[in-house]
Amino acid sequence: MGTTALRADFSRDELEAEAAEFRSYIARWVDERLVPQAEAIDHEADFSHALFKELGELGYYGVMYPESVGGSGLKYPYTCFTILCEELARGSMSFAAGACMQGSTATHTIFQWGNESLHDKYLKPALRGEKVAAFAITEPNSGSDAASLRTRATRVDGGYILNGTKMFTSNGTVADFITVVATTDPTKGLKGLDLFLVDTTSPGFSVGRKLDKFSVRSSDTGELVFENVFVPDDHYLNNGSGSSFLNAYKSLTVDRIFTAALALGGGQAAYNAALQYAKEREQFGQPIGKFQAVQFRLVDMLAKLEQARLYTYHAAALADQNASITTEAAIAKIVAAEGCHEVCEMAMSVYGGYGLMNEYPAQRFLRDSYFPMIGGGTGDIMRLIVSRQLGF
Ligand SMILES: Cc1cc2nc3c(=O)[nH]c(=O)nc-3n(C[C@H](O)[C@H](O)[C@H](O)COP(=O)(O)OP(=O)(O)OC[C@H]3O[C@@H](n4cnc5c(N)ncnc54)[C@H](O)[C@@H]3O)c2cc1C
Repeated sequence: MGTTALRADFSRDELEAEAAEFRSYIARWVDERLVPQAEAIDHEADFSHALFKELGELGYYGVMYPESVGGSGLKYPYTCFTILCEELARGSMSFAAGACMQGSTATHTIFQWGNESLHDKYLKPALRGEKVAAFAITEPNSGSDAASLRTRATRVDGGYILNGTKMFTSNGTVADFITVVATTDPTKGLKGLDLFLVDTTSPGFSVGRKLDKFSVRSSDTGELVFENVFVPDDHYLNNGSGSSFLNAYKSLTVDRIFTAALALGGGQAAYNAALQYAKEREQFGQPIGKFQAVQFRLVDMLAKLEQARLYTYHAAALADQNASITTEAAIAKIVAAEGCHEVCEMAMSVYGGYGLMNEYPAQRFLRDSYFPMIGGGTGDIMRLIVSRQLGF
């Protein structure tokens, strides 16, 4: 992103107008459709295909894309997608994790480097919510250290053969297609990594297992096995200018803003619930919100949310200007993910013993708040990225 010229037609007023209108639509859907089902889908660890499809029918997976591929053609797509992630996570972080993966990382490189036939067969149906998409880089023995991944792509006549195992793939066990990161040459480290579009009906592909989690329970997370999976040449996602993983990495940076937004939405939900509870729960003959200790906790929560919001939307606005966001996106993720995790801890304390009960949402907000601190790179890795920008 940093290599592109800044947008000359960027207007703050216009951005805010588009953002406000966009938020009003998605917020209504979240309140009417997602919030009422959030507890049940978490309890049942249900991927909720119906809601997932419904969001696609409404066009929300296309927020980042132009109309030519079935997208929304928005002028400020990064800010609007950030709003989408925040609002969905306010309703259900679990649901938001899978939906936001569908509208960004899992479809973006196909949009960038896939040919027209891949757009017709995979991208457009995914944006309509008819096909589920996933992106797989993490492996059982390779997480933060992507360069050590072992999934191997071997050149054969007409394409590549993939062998390896992927871990923690969101949407993985329900996906119709997966963008898989594999090495074409293990001696090259990161420079040997490339992207391959795998149709999950391909012989040799199988789901190792669906993973059971204590956090974001209704988002689907899988271990996937690739055993001599043939990937035809036109499913090799590369624009010819070196490792497509390294090229994708530049655009993947923006996903850190979206993960920050997930944290923000989850934190906002926890704050809203705690505020209401503080007004309703009575002890010593008055609502607990009358005690200054509880008031101060709520104010600290609000301050952390405000900080997270400012960093996250500042980074999103920079992305909409085509400005460099390496540092800003990583800092937004640190501030939002860690700050909103603290917000969820404080919400638990406002709820007292009821916070631990499954019939109240505080425990779900806290459990889910771990996800943005890990997904898309841990806080340590975000600090590593910023340290490099400082010249270390
Ligand atoms: C619910 C969920 C969904 C996910 N979805 C996807 C997905 O769709 N696709 C996908 O590819 N991956 C996905 N992931 C994987 C996620 O990106 C990784 O979990 C994350 O990058 C961390 O890798 P790891 O879990 O192997 O931890 P490790 O890399 O083993 O790290 C363990 C600890 O060591 C620290 N550490 C590691 N290296 C360093 C270092 N150099 N400096 C300082 N500290 C370090 C980490 O910060 C962490 O605290 C998902 C994970 C989860 C939990």
